Amino acid sequence: MLKGKTAVVTGGSRGIGKAICLKFAENGADIAFLYAGNTVKAEETVKELEGLGVKAKAYQCNVADADAVAAVVKEIVKDFGGIQILVNNAGITKDKLVPMMKAADFDAVIDTNLKGAFYMTKGVYPLFLKQKGGKIINISSVSGLTGNPGQANYSASKAGVIGLTKSVAKELASRGVCCNAIAPGFIATEMTQALENDTLKDAIPMKRFGEAEEVAKLALFLASEHSDYITGEVIRIDGGLAC
Ligand code: NDP
Repeated sequence: MLKGKTAVVTGGSRGIGKAICLKFAENGADIAFLYAGNTVKAEETVKELEGLGVKAKAYQCNVADADAVAAVVKEIVKDFGGIQILVNNAGITKDKLVPMMKAADFDAVIDTNLKGAFYMTKGVYPLFLKQKGGKIINISSVSGLTGNPGQANYSASKAGVIGLTKSVAKELASRGVCCNAIAPGFIATEMTQALENDTLKDAIPMKRFGEAEEVAKLALFLASEHSDYITGEVIRIDGGLAC
């Protein structure tokens, strides 16, 4: 489904981002992914991707650093010859109730989750305009749709990602570029390891956490020609949690 395309995935070394890299590679895409600092995991992921017969490279780059992002996008274009798909997936949490949440915790989450997606989008924007095509997929969260106690910073960042998605979708729709968001509920990754318990699972209509691969299948649909008339959309994947 993605043969001949290059996909850039932020936070591609672990969790949902890694599952997206693997799914895209299984479908023929070459993969450039960004990670924050876990080089061992990043190298493991590159090997797995290369095992699928595609070109793959990891770039250590903090998405919250505007200059570093601008430079890495240029480097990826040089290495791969172009970019057709961007997945803004890198994200962090720093959960606390508002009275205990430091301003620095609020800023760090906004900087990575929201500004990071903005910087990456800014990086590919002129390329996508010029080539009159491209797919941008932003990983939001049901927390951005419904709010969540202890996650004022995270929910604000993920709601912001939805606003970013809809604005970019409208800016680029006439140029053949689609920009959509995915809003996962609880997905089993390192981020949610400590949360997985029966009480929480019981609150989910489907009574289980989702798998990263299930999110990756949705991302594949949004990256492929099967979704060419869908833009500015937010798709929940949450086992019914926020319906
Ligand atoms: P993980 O914590 O498992 O993985 C996070 C990934 O992001 C890692 O590859 C990490 O790199 C990278 N990363 C973190 N900060 C930065 C940064 N500043 N610059 C570049 N890369 C960075 O997260 P998940 O897979 O669970 O989550 C992925 C996305 O999905 C996030 O946006 C999250 O908010 C969202 N989401 C997750 C849900 C869940 O239940 N898991 C639910 C809803 C949304 P490194 O390995 O080097 O640290």
